[in-house]
Amino acid sequence: MLMGQMMQRPLLVMDLLKFGAETHKTAEIVSVRCEGDLHRQTYPETLDRVGQLGHALEALGLSSGDRVATLAWNGHRHFELYYACAGAGMVCHTINPRLSPEQMLYILGHAEDRVVFFDLTFLPIIEGLKAHLPEGMRFICMTDRAHMPEASVDLLCYEDLLAAQDATYDWPELDENTACGLCYTSGTTGNPKGALYSHRSSVLHAMYTGLALQTGLYDGSRILPVVPLFHVNAWGLPYAAPLMGASLIMPGPALDGASLFKLMDGEKVNSAWGVPTVWLGLQGEIANQGRTPDGLNQVVIGGSAAPRAMIEGFESQGVGVCHAWGMTEMSPIGTTGILPSDARDLPFADRMTLQAKQGRRVFGCELKIVDEAGKALPHDGEAVGELYVRGNAIVSGYFNNDDATAAAIDADGWFGTGDVAHIDKDGFLSIQDRAKDLIKSGGEWISSIDIENVVMAHPEVANCAVIAAPHPKWDERPLLVVVPAGDTKIMLDDVNVLMEPHFAKWQWPDDVVFVDALPLTATGKVSKLILRQTFADYQLPDLRGT
Ligand code: AMP
Repeated sequence: MLMGQMMQRPLLVMDLLKFGAETHKTAEIVSVRCEGDLHRQTYPETLDRVGQLGHALEALGLSSGDRVATLAWNGHRHFELYYACAGAGMVCHTINPRLSPEQMLYILGHAEDRVVFFDLTFLPIIEGLKAHLPEGMRFICMTDRAHMPEASVDLLCYEDLLAAQDATYDWPELDENTACGLCYTSGTTGNPKGALYSHRSSVLHAMYTGLALQTGLYDGSRILPVVPLFHVNAWGLPYAAPLMGASLIMPGPALDGASLFKLMDGEKVNSAWGVPTVWLGLQGEIANQGRTPDGLNQVVIGGSAAPRAMIEGFESQGVGVCHAWGMTEMSPIGTTGILPSDARDLPFADRMTLQAKQGRRVFGCELKIVDEAGKALPHDGEAVGELYVRGNAIVSGYFNNDDATAAAIDADGWFGTGDVAHIDKDGFLSIQDRAKDLIKSGGEWISSIDIENVVMAHPEVANCAVIAAPHPKWDERPLLVVVPAGDTKIMLDDVNVLMEPHFAKWQWPDDVVFVDALPLTATGKVSKLILRQTFADYQLPDLRGT
């Protein structure tokens, strides 16, 4: 074999920021801070502060390989930690502040974190955990001296640490496979599992995402990541934005519809990224104001299935929707819903049918669906199987967890996502459910996502979820849980009318129940586990014979 004669330079995270600071000098990070102000800094200013932070981390006694925990909202200081840790060969370990104290303690212990950087809001969490954490752990409050809180724990002040340091840092030339980030998945069963990203995987993912999402990520674009830096790397935006020249508008703790609308309006955000529950809030504010935020022309929706009614709502207001799918273990983006050129002029309804799917794979992520025996199934839009993925930005195993690794990786090295899906001949992925959320009625599978999509279009439904309820004859039957939009409640007969054009009769829900709000997981998704527990003893009406 004749080998190429090309240089091999390591792919390093710090080079993304250096590149942004050199070639996109005016792009900025705008942050709503816990102190209550709006802060701005350019990429060159950010690079200087990251240099100061790199020295500060070393002054704290940290060195290569050490894990640095963060408990923080989306803001410039959190962004700085991503880069300073990576640049110095350390690992930025983002912790989801919405986890339970037990889960946080498990994660902090498993990761063997040495220090915790936290936002002002999370002081009560730190004070609550302190007694259970190892001696010698340091806590850094991410604020300036004037805003340092009274605390029962010894605290260091972030801005003081930086002020003492030089902005010039001679970043080491690391091996590109060095770890740079760690994020635990908040699995609904068992202990959380850690995805340990490398410099190489993070840089490649930034390039894959930049290529796939050029409609939102470009020189001069202004992106609002509602998706948190504390979960799934804010879909890779901290890495992709400086590479592509996009500004980041960080919303801090204010994630309600009215606050997001105001921020988008004021900062002329053109692209906003987040989970469907967040967009329900924004849609409410759009309805209140009778207009969309000035300049907004794209929302990227992922994390759970974007309901078709939501996509249609945005699109008919002139805001394009990109429906994306991925996982913590995939850095996280696997597919995006940017339509192929020949589909962009389809009639509205046909276009919406395509956009309600989870999109096509990004370069660098291969997809396969398999049956229960692990045999690959055709991509014909009909065969449904478990989705497996392979690529350079996908975990090859979980951090220090051989059992979880063995369960997730197949004999050919593909990662099992736990999602059940079909893929059509054009490569469009349709997620049917998490495997554990599918409803098995008389041996046949029913997709809860498909039913939810149809029911969400009804004006009397603000939100809904379909779960399996136990049934003496059919094992499980679909139960529709609805949050009503107003005083009138949708009845089962109305649901049946909605179902009729789309589903066989045996797939229709057996009953409707009403709740004030759907329970959410720590990552803002509807918790079907809690709903199943809530309705575990629910007596379904005897519609289909026992
Ligand atoms: P996480 O690692 O917390 O981001 O969760 C990943 C899981 O979220 C995936 O395995 C899917 O079950 C679900 N998910 C993410 N994006 C979508 C989407 N667009 N549609 C349906 N499910 C999604």
